[in-house]
Amino acid sequence: YAVPVPENEPVLSYAPGSPEKIALKAELKAMKSKEIDVPMYIGSELVTTEKKMRMAPPHDHKHTLGHFNYGDASHVEQAINAALGAKQAWTELSWEHRASIFLKAAELVAGPYRAKINASTMLAQSKSPMQAEIDAACEYIDFLKFNVDFMTQIYTEQPESAPGMWNRMEHRPLEGFIFALTPFNFTSIAGNLCAAPAMMGNTIVWKPAESQVYSAQILMEVFREAGVPDGVINLIYVDGPTAGEVIFNHKDFGGLHFTGSTGVFQHLWKTIGENISKYKSYPRIVGETGGKDFIIAHKSADAKALATGITRGAFEFQGQKCSAASRAYIPDNLWEEVKGYLLEDHKTIKMGSPEDFTNFFNAVIDEKSFDKISKYIDAAKDSNMAEIIAGGGYDKSEGYFVQPTIIVAKDPMFTTMCEEIFGPVITIYVYQAERFEEALELVDSTSPYALTGAIFSQDRYAIELATKKLVNAAGNFYINDKPTGAVVGQQPFGGSRASGTNDKAGSMINLLRWVSPRTIKETF
Ligand code: GLU
Repeated sequence: YAVPVPENEPVLSYAPGSPEKIALKAELKAMKSKEIDVPMYIGSELVTTEKKMRMAPPHDHKHTLGHFNYGDASHVEQAINAALGAKQAWTELSWEHRASIFLKAAELVAGPYRAKINASTMLAQSKSPMQAEIDAACEYIDFLKFNVDFMTQIYTEQPESAPGMWNRMEHRPLEGFIFALTPFNFTSIAGNLCAAPAMMGNTIVWKPAESQVYSAQILMEVFREAGVPDGVINLIYVDGPTAGEVIFNHKDFGGLHFTGSTGVFQHLWKTIGENISKYKSYPRIVGETGGKDFIIAHKSADAKALATGITRGAFEFQGQKCSAASRAYIPDNLWEEVKGYLLEDHKTIKMGSPEDFTNFFNAVIDEKSFDKISKYIDAAKDSNMAEIIAGGGYDKSEGYFVQPTIIVAKDPMFTTMCEEIFGPVITIYVYQAERFEEALELVDSTSPYALTGAIFSQDRYAIELATKKLVNAAGNFYINDKPTGAVVGQQPFGGSRASGTNDKAGSMINLLRWVSPRTIKETF
């Protein structure tokens, strides 16, 4: 029993004159020329309220993209009721028909919605065209298609049966509703946090990050056009504590699908714990929650490849990836050469609006983020234990612009070496080349996170040693490559420790979290 074999969506080039570039430019222009009013999507209703929240590009404060309609506790309740009301019919719809809906969604994103989803991600999340293409189009299409394939395997593989009996497994959805709390940094992740549990027969209350509302609405339009029935995915904009109060006190709360900060995730986990006796079942808690991702180089590393890995790993999408390289350990024998390449690369990074396709680097997401990042840069400026060798500037007069910044720390425990910044700042510690093992220990013990990491080395023994010593330091470990850019179906993504529950986005492991299997044995 096979669904169409999934293949990774090719990344389009956006070369001058290409049809994709023409379409994207036209869509950007259209989105810039009108202000939209984004409703909440609750059941079959498009809900507007008196409280309108302004949407502006992070790189251009003056422009208004539109507004979204802010809800209150009553909207959270309505969304829960809509999700519960839609549940039975959705669960009873055969999995093949659910699969068809999400395959159609993938086709819509690949075709008629590609420019829309990319343009909204560029404008409202300040992503470059290439980063938007990789995220909002390609990764999202991949999530949908690969998950449909995994879903097929889950529903069709059955246990062994001995003579005289028949054993079967029924992959029931979880009881109740799922709460999807989604981040600004990947449009694909926001879509997948809803689509993955929905595929498995669950219904969803979805609260996106406020800075992602524009592309969230496009995702919602895709779901609707693909045939996701009303009430299966309900999109609301409500402040966190209000949503949490209603959702986590509800007896039908069935699970949380989360990507965001460690602090918020731990707070939600505690709240769920406090309410545990109210629920029918133990809720599924799945979260991906940040990182302090590392690159360690061995003395045998290729200096040029290493420098490219640092620049791309640290600065693509302004370092706002959970996977972004934010600390690097370089042996002293390589440092001068690597530094030369880094400074050369740094000069070529053009910063500005993503609407100018020649800019590699755009604005950070919002004022809170800008202030946090600039404080860390100031800490380096004010300390004699650190030196900024490139960047270090920031300016929020027109947009939230923070220069890509390279800090060299004399102390491996310097604050920017240990704490998550979630911005375009990498801190480098230069270690004595002969003390590779000690450097590995530093990597493992410096931060509470364990999401991604990379070793650059041309010495196989060093690669093996790093792979063993850093066994728990990263859920995604890269050998001679940057620690970002996991591809669905190729490098299932997720980490442990303070980085999350490691339920590998875009894999069967994740889909299995959204079912509660029933084993049936019949004797003849
Ligand atoms: N999957 C992305 C990557 O490999 C990162 C996702 C995230 O930032 O949460 O770069």
